[in-house]
Amino acid sequence: MLDSLFNPKSVAIIGASTKDLSIGNRVIKNLVDFDFKGPVYPINPKADEVRGIKAYKSIMDCPDGIDVVHMVIPAKFVPQAVDDCGKKGVKNIIINSGGFSEIGPEGEAIEKDFLERAKKYGIRMFGPNCQGIINSDPDIRAYCNFTFTKPEPGAISIVALSGGVAEVIHQGFAQMGVGTRIYASNGNACDITIPEIIRYLGDDEGTRVIVTYVEGLRDPETFMQVAKEVAAKKPVLAMKAGRTKEGAKAAASHTGGLAKEDIATDLIFKKAGILMFHDEGELIQAAAAFASQSIPKGGRIGIITNTGGPAVIATDIFVGAGCTLPPLSDKTKTFLKEKLYPEASINNPVDVLATANAGHYRACLDAMMDDDSFDCVFVNFVTPFFVDTDSIAKEIVEVNAQGKKPIVCNLMTDPNEWTETVRILREGNVPFFPLPSEAARAMTGLVRYSRVVSRDIGEPKQFTDVDKTKALGIIENAKSAGKEFLSAEDVYDVLAAYQIPVAAWKITASADEAAKAAEEIGFPVVVKADAESVVHKSDMGGVAINLEDADAVKSAAETMGRKIDAADLKFLVQKFMPGGLEIILGAKAEEGLGHMIMFGLGGIYVEIMKDVVFNLTPVTPFEAEEMLSSIKGKELLDGVRGQKGVDKASIMDSIKRLSQLVSDIPMIQEMDLNPVMAFEDKIVIVDARIGL
Ligand code: ADP
Ligand code: MG
Repeated sequence: MLDSLFNPKSVAIIGASTKDLSIGNRVIKNLVDFDFKGPVYPINPKADEVRGIKAYKSIMDCPDGIDVVHMVIPAKFVPQAVDDCGKKGVKNIIINSGGFSEIGPEGEAIEKDFLERAKKYGIRMFGPNCQGIINSDPDIRAYCNFTFTKPEPGAISIVALSGGVAEVIHQGFAQMGVGTRIYASNGNACDITIPEIIRYLGDDEGTRVIVTYVEGLRDPETFMQVAKEVAAKKPVLAMKAGRTKEGAKAAASHTGGLAKEDIATDLIFKKAGILMFHDEGELIQAAAAFASQSIPKGGRIGIITNTGGPAVIATDIFVGAGCTLPPLSDKTKTFLKEKLYPEASINNPVDVLATANAGHYRACLDAMMDDDSFDCVFVNFVTPFFVDTDSIAKEIVEVNAQGKKPIVCNLMTDPNEWTETVRILREGNVPFFPLPSEAARAMTGLVRYSRVVSRDIGEPKQFTDVDKTKALGIIENAKSAGKEFLSAEDVYDVLAAYQIPVAAWKITASADEAAKAAEEIGFPVVVKADAESVVHKSDMGGVAINLEDADAVKSAAETMGRKIDAADLKFLVQKFMPGGLEIILGAKAEEGLGHMIMFGLGGIYVEIMKDVVFNLTPVTPFEAEEMLSSIKGKELLDGVRGQKGVDKASIMDSIKRLSQLVSDIPMIQEMDLNPVMAFEDKIVIVDARIGL
């Protein structure tokens, strides 16, 4: 579908300008400088030529068969120009100009107008308010873009709405001397969307790795679908900005506040198998490694170094990322003792010493490639003036070309002096980085991805002991009664229908009834105010805990009755469940994605530690287990310093049941089970809210 856009045979520029410092001129210069393989048609009603190329008065005067038209004209002229292009049979239009939906309703109307016209003619629109595309394929060399990075051909393709970030990523690759293939930055993306481009790149043979940057997803459902499909074919590396907002969001104490769209984006990436980054530098470095290296089987790293400290820095990064540095096998040790200097350190890292020559490096590389203890090989390589570094580089390249295991190199040198060493590594497709930590992080990107690839989340468990009809009935009744939140009675009935354990409870209408209910439940009990207007009960004096006898219950209810002015006020009497670990479970509907399920430490921990994790529905048993082991305070679940651990199996069971409940009844907008009291042998929910 997008073939004619990314592989154009000819390009016209409506708004071609004779002024050097203008987009309408720059695009032409870029096409020419980049050696575009097809004809370029500048369109300018006044000039005979632009940049020495014959110009046309109108698109109508150009030769036929135009694949791409750039529009660099004021927004108000665009609809008419689109009509002209339609009549001319143009296939794609890139609108570089702004003045559309990004400026408000007026621009939005123009965008809608030209889009309708384009649809009529079957023209695909790229942008508006965008940079454009680049294809560095030697047969195409299309630079339909006004930026300045001129890439070498490569295997990395870049796609992003934001032109600024796309360009800075592009620059990053260029500065490292890493080639790129297709580049697409589509601004307002009124027609051709990011998912559509990602799907195209997924099918593009020359693209080995896809790099994308997002701030939020417009159509999460489609993104998820496409991402899953493409990530199954090749690595997709994504960076999402807006991290600090997440921290702020987590400050809120209820699910709605904790779970915002950008958490959902993380979860989409995770579920789809996209490798996520929070730092553009790290993303670029990892992509450079992906462009030439295979995906390792695991995270067991062998390090070869000719200088001590940098290997230590790398080691810290590896271990921090969950990689290991296994010892060398006996065979490798014996072999290296024979081959290396006697003073060399034959451990992992292997220190071959600064005076090591090509033969030493080669012996070490070969040994690690053949030693089953390692999945990847990392090389710290400083270029001393007293050794033949070119020969060392050649050995690294040779071993790399065998493709046995991924290699990443930390090349510490003066690139202006050791030009040949640098050239050998670059042309030999060995990813190398000047800083030890950068190089190590690039390698951990490969390892992280190996985990993404091998992570099999399995299928969700379907509970058959649930009463969906009953739960649905309760919720439908509440909905038709116009309720936004379910009453306590309804909430606990819904939970019971899904076998989610709740503390023994009774709803009562008066203080006397409350006292009677307490006798039946058994002391000590808790009394809580229940009314639609009462949200945070304890804040309003609506919670009285540890009531030991009927008198205490009665007076607590009476006090609440005086304090809380609500016509529908009732009293929930509940078994007092002290001494457990307070945890929180929750759910929130996500447009087009089902729900997000939340799990974390509850009570004061929610507000102070913000120690919660999320997962999109359906939550599989594998994912439920992953959720429990992903919180910072996971040790608390197992028990610390003589404290008993809690019943993790029951927590996971409730997470899965909750996932099934909200999937069965999508009408549920949010659920907040806070706290859930977790004990050694059971969990009990003591407070719950369901919002419609
Ligand atoms: P809200 O969240 O509306 O203020 P809760 O029902 O969560 O009201 O009660 C506030 C706190 O009181 C809980 O976080 C918990 O620490 C404690 N609490 C409430 N119910 C019980 C109970 N049945 N057993 C033990 N502690 C309870
Ligand atoms: Mg609560």
